[in-house]
Formats: sequence, structure tokens, C-alpha cells
Amino acid sequence: MRPDILNPLFAEITTLKGIGPAIAKPLDRLKIARIKDLLYHFPSGWTYRKQVTLLDEADVGQNIIIKLVIGEHKSSGHRRGPLRIFGSDAEGNYVTLTFFGRNGGWARKQLPVGEERVVSGKLERYGDELQIVHPDHMDKPDSKSQPQLAEPVYPLSEGITSKRLGQLISDSLQKLPELPEWAEPSVLSKAAWSSWSRALASIHQKDDEGLHDRLAYDEIFSNQLALQLVRKEMDRRKGVAVQGDESLVGKLKLPFEMTGAQKRTVSEIEGDLVQSRPMLRLLQGDVGSGKTVVALVTLLRAVEAGMQGAFLAPTEILARQHFASLQELLSGLPVNVAILTGRDKGKIRESTLMGLADGSIHILVGTHAIFQEAVEYKNLAVAVIDEQHRFGVSQRLMLSGKGRGVPHLLVMTATPIPRSLALASYGDMDASQLDELPPGRTPVETLVMSEEKLVSLVEGVGRHLADGKQAFWVCPLVEESANSDLAAAEQRAAQLKLRFGDKVAVVHGRMKGPEKDAVMEAFASGKTQLLVATTVIEVGVDVPNASLMIVEAADRFGLAQLHQLRGRVGRGAEKSRCVLVRSAQIGETAKARLALMRETNDGFRIAEEDLKLRGAGEMLGVRQSGESPFNIASDEQVREMIGMAADDAKLLLERDGGLTGSRGEAARIALYLFERDAGVATLRSG
Ligand code: ADP
Ligand code: MG
Repeated sequence: MRPDILNPLFAEITTLKGIGPAIAKPLDRLKIARIKDLLYHFPSGWTYRKQVTLLDEADVGQNIIIKLVIGEHKSSGHRRGPLRIFGSDAEGNYVTLTFFGRNGGWARKQLPVGEERVVSGKLERYGDELQIVHPDHMDKPDSKSQPQLAEPVYPLSEGITSKRLGQLISDSLQKLPELPEWAEPSVLSKAAWSSWSRALASIHQKDDEGLHDRLAYDEIFSNQLALQLVRKEMDRRKGVAVQGDESLVGKLKLPFEMTGAQKRTVSEIEGDLVQSRPMLRLLQGDVGSGKTVVALVTLLRAVEAGMQGAFLAPTEILARQHFASLQELLSGLPVNVAILTGRDKGKIRESTLMGLADGSIHILVGTHAIFQEAVEYKNLAVAVIDEQHRFGVSQRLMLSGKGRGVPHLLVMTATPIPRSLALASYGDMDASQLDELPPGRTPVETLVMSEEKLVSLVEGVGRHLADGKQAFWVCPLVEESANSDLAAAEQRAAQLKLRFGDKVAVVHGRMKGPEKDAVMEAFASGKTQLLVATTVIEVGVDVPNASLMIVEAADRFGLAQLHQLRGRVGRGAEKSRCVLVRSAQIGETAKARLALMRETNDGFRIAEEDLKLRGAGEMLGVRQSGESPFNIASDEQVREMIGMAADDAKLLLERDGGLTGSRGEAARIALYLFERDAGVATLRSG
């Protein structure tokens, strides 16, 4: 249970004064529901002001605070003209306060003639006069609210002002509890950080990077602590040593010889499997490096040892494809592979669940459905996760309940994950690399073309299809909505159908499963030749006869994503091409990024350069796709502090594994504060 001391922070914002339905909506859009969300809604910038007593102390263009005596109100002749109100400083020099539109009526009431007001705003010159348009404060000199020398500017949503948010935040600060310190004292003193509550209060009062670092550190620390607790719990519960006997792997008839890298990786994995400490291994290998076979051997070892394996794919299409390729590679062997996705319902699902429970199904392939609560395995020993950079703590805990012991876990990815990101998602893990492509591949030739040349591109596609070859056509990524993605793909498909008729098919994420499969099958079997798609084909799809890929509006894709897309071609003997169609006008960075794609096929280099080109930007776009486990820490802060946080967490657990000492208790509070309850849960069961 959450410690009581945190209750004020988790209270709904409706417990604050003056939160009605009108303001609840914009707050909801800002994802602010609890007091804690308000307090962690940090300023995005600051307005600085200069306090003056006389107007000549300020320069035009400066934001000032000044006490004025209100003078004459002057409406302009015509109806829509501004209202002008004169105010004079201590020496009688005056400034015009100008109000447009409906603000006029309100200002009239706020600024009665003859009274004093503390006014703030930007001083401008209008003709020979000084003026302030729509002052942002007009307070009575004795009122509690006064313009500040530095005022935070908050990220906003329609329907709420920065000032209003500031008020709500300062009301919330009244409820801020003093929490015990959870950070390592030496870390605190080295960075000269203040206490948590001081930092949280100050970050709304002054612009100071150190404060943000401290508060981000807390989140990173909780993340690392939770992950380490889970790892400890997994080790304590133990896995099952998986010792294969070659009865299946020995009979596997692969249509090729494994590469050196594949063999090495397989033996690294086998070394883990024979231990009772559950494996936690990351397998990085570029697109086309042959990860599927490594997964297969890993799963077969479990089956050889009389246990089960599970293979998780990120999408329905990929799950179907993995299922098909596993079945093909296993033909003739006594291995029962089944598939389970969210789509499978009723009788089929029932019988799959039964087969899993009684052990007659040896390997289960599927989407997230395969780890749902209702899915019971007889004795799951190995789980392979394909292309999921984040497989959360709670998912892992759930998985760990599915075997006799904790299943061994292999995470595969084509996107090179920086160490900091792997740490953030999984904690410390072992890593293997498939740093060698299977032989005989001809690298894909990449061309960049302006969208103005689309007509001649279509001609080129025509010649390609006339030769009996196949191609992908990927449509622009439209960020605002999946609907417009769809419209773009369908529109393009319609145009191409006019030209190429039945040779054209279209596939997108909104299609129902069976419909999607039918389209993919028709394309894989060569019945259709040109597949127009949204990015649903991004990962994994394997059609070796497709040797041309067109990507429209390529400048709007991430480089890692382009690299994945390009990996869909170049899988057969045929020389393949990838045409990146760019907008007519693009900036220098976009140009450099596309040039890099033309220059190299090396996924690691692309990922590295992409990070550099985007500076301290998104960590491989994971934040966009909602895969980042952090809300407060920026990617840069994660990179900088995660190593330190990992050490800090480790040290604490070495000294106080049950988190029962005073710092341990404090750390528990941090886990709850950052909603890493799963980490705490491991302590209870211990
Ligand atoms: P990844 O998942 O790493 O992108 P896949 O496992 O889909 O790659 O393999 C890509 C293609 O290469 C598949 O058609 C596969 O059959 C083939 N392949 C895998 N390993 C080898 C190898 N050692 N020699 C030749 N072809 C291979
Ligand atoms: Mg793959």
C-alpha cells in the first residue's frame, strides 16, 4: 500500500479550490489529474521583468513592473478601435495602456481613474508615446498577487492560461509534504542538490537546470531500483536449467549454413540456458542478419528439454509470418507450433489454450495475447521477444508466473539500442551481436528523388512491373491522425490502380486481420505485384521477390525507420533499389539525413549519425511511440545520469536488500511516488 505521506500528492486536483468543469478539460488534455501531476508540470520558459519607479529607467522593448496612477480613459472614435488608458509614474510621465476588443470593457473596471496600480508588461513606443499593450498584471499595490521579477511560463492547452496554472501550482505547493531522502548522500553532495521538496518548490520559482536534474534523477533512480528489485526477485525464484539433447536442433534442415555470428550467438545463448539463473539477453542484429533462426534454435532447446517456448512479435502480420517460417523450417520434425493473437477467439482460442496447458503445443507464436493472464502454459522455459524495446517490469513479472521457474528471456532488435536505453527498459542485461550478414547479399542501392519527379518515377515502376518483378510503395506518414495516413495510402493506390490495374494491392493498419493476411499472402505469392502500404510493413515482412521500394515523403521518417523499411528489399538474389522521395523543399538537416541513407547500409552507423544529427533529440523516436519509461527525465538526462542511478540503486540494495533501513524506507516512498509499485511488490513476496 502507498505510504500515507504521499496521499496529498495523489489527491485529485478537484480537491483544490476553484477547479470546475471548464478548467478540468484543459487540465485533462495536459494529463494533469492529481496534485502530483500539477507539481511535476514544469515551466517551459520564464518571463523576466525589470522593476522600475520611473519610466525613463526602462528601455523600450523591456518587460517592466511599475506603479502607476491611473488617468483618463479614452475610447477611439470608431467602434472596433482600442481603448486607451493613461497611467503616470511618480514624476508624472505617462504611458498608455492599450486594450483591444473585449478586453476594453474589463480593463475599464480594473483601472478606475485616480487609483494606483502595479502594472507589468512590455514597454513599447507608439508614435511619440510610450505604451503597454494588454498589461499582464494590473494589481492593487496591497493585493497578494503581484507581478514577479521572474514568472514561469507553463506548457498550455486551450482554455487555461499560464497565470492560472501558476496559481494552481502554488496552491498545490501548500500541500507539499517533506519526504525523507532516498538519494545516496555522496551523490547529493557532489551535485549540490537540494532536498526533493525544496527542489520541487524551487523549480516553479526560478530557472535552474540543477533543480530539474535532481527531480529527473529521482525518476531515473526509481526506475533502476525497480528493475534491480525485479531482477533480484527473478534470480531468487530461479529459472529452470534448459539442457537440450540435439534431438531436434540436430535434425534441423536449414536451407543455408549459419553465419559465424549466428553460431557464436547461439552458443552464448546456450551457455545461459543451462544455468538456473534466468537469462536476460539482448540480441542486436541488423535487418536481414538472420535473427529468426537464432530464435528458433533457442526455442527448440526448450522443447528438447521437454518444455515450452513462446515467441512474441510486435504486430499481427509479423506473428503470422514468424509462424509460417517456423512451420516451414520445422517441417518433418515432431514439434507442434501454434499461433495466438488478439484476433483468435472462440473455439480456436480455446483449443490453443488447452494445448498450452496440457503441453501438447511446444512453441507458441503471437502478439501480446500470448502473455495475458488467461494464457496458462504447462511449463514455459524460454520466451523470445522480437522488436519490443520495452517489455515493462509488470509484463516481465507476469511472464515469470508462467513457467515452473522464471522463463529465460531473449530480446531481439534490429534497431541498435544505446546502452542507456537498454538499461532504462530492462536494467543491466547481457548482449549478443549479429555483426555479419549472410553471404551473397547485394547491398540495396538507394536513390533520393524530389517529389516533382513523381511522374517519371511511376514510369520506372511500370517497367519494373512489366519485367514481372514486385515492389513496395510506402505512403507518407501523417502525424496528426491514423485516418489521414489511411487516406493518403488509399488515394495513392487508387491512382496507381488506374495505371496498373489489378497488379496493385493496398494494406494498412486499420484493416481487419484476415483481410490484411489475404492481401499479404496474395503479394507474397506473386498474385499482386505492387503493394501500396502505410508503415505497417515496417518490421520484418519478408518477400524476397520484391526488389524495389518507393518511400514517399521520406524526409518525414526517422532514419532508423527508413532503414527498417529499406530492409524489406534486398532479400533475394536480385539487385534491389530503394527510392526515397523527398518533398520539393527540405532543410539542410533533412538533406543530410537522406544523403546518409544513400551513403550507407549499416544500421549501427545510421542510428549513431541520426542521434548526432538530431542532437540531444529523441532517443530513436521511442518517446513518440510511447515506449519511454520516463515522464520527467529528458533523454539527455537519462543518458547522463542512468549509470549513476544504477550504481546508487545497487549500492543501496547491497546494504539493505529488504529496504527496511531508513534510506530503504525512503526509497520505497520514491518507488510509490513514481508508480513503480511492481518493484515494491517483489519485496512483499520476499
Ligand atoms: P532478421 O529477422 O534478422 O531481419 P531474418 O531472420 O528474417 O532476418 O532473415 C532474413 C533472411 O535471411 C531470411 O530469408 C532467412 O531465411 C535468411 N537467412 C538467415 N540466415 C541465413 C544464413 N546464414 N545464410 C543465408 N540466408 C540466411
Ligand atoms: Mg526479424
